[in-house]
Amino acid sequence: MKRGIIISVSGPSGVGKGTVIEKLREINPEFGFSVSATTRAPREGEVEGESYFFKTKEEFEALVEAGEIIEYDEYVGNYYGTPAVPLAMMSDEGVDVLLDLTIPGSLILKEMFGDQAVTIFLNPPSFEELEKRLTGRGTEAEEVVQKRLAEAENEIAEADKFDYIVINDDLDQAVKEIMDIINKAKEE
Ligand code: 5GP
Repeated sequence: MKRGIIISVSGPSGVGKGTVIEKLREINPEFGFSVSATTRAPREGEVEGESYFFKTKEEFEALVEAGEIIEYDEYVGNYYGTPAVPLAMMSDEGVDVLLDLTIPGSLILKEMFGDQAVTIFLNPPSFEELEKRLTGRGTEAEEVVQKRLAEAENEIAEADKFDYIVINDDLDQAVKEIMDIINKAKEE
């Protein structure tokens, strides 16, 4: 059986990665999603095992030690990592898998999986718009928003290391572009 492709979406906090991935999964419920492990506290409405596997720092480090996390990164004071087994299982079963990763996470994944992986950088239409979205969603304290915005400036500079750059100005348009990218990757 042909292995599923691995589609990793990165971009600054607030650009809409979560919403874009949600939309892609609505359009094609056959897509798999790699649920990450994190030491960050759950946000309101987040569900254990669906949004993330929420772990303590010690639990997370033990998973890394045991080789159960294939890549991980530290972002604004917390660990985030991809559990190895579910990703391998989905891909082996021919399921195309979506991941929401930091920039280093996507770049490592590309190194590991080569042509089986497609990396997409989601860019905001402008930095001002990003600031507006991140402040407007109200999920983080002001101090965390500022840290995330400071990261965003460095992150946007890395966009050209990705296979594709998509601008998330109009959500439906961005989703359509990503669907086209995925369909093209599947033909190759
Ligand atoms: P958030 O706290 O907003 O849910 O996520 C913060 C950042 O962590 C986002 O940029 C997201 O893409 C990234 N992230 C989530 N899960 C993983 C993961 O498993 N590995 C890596 N490298 N980054 C992740």
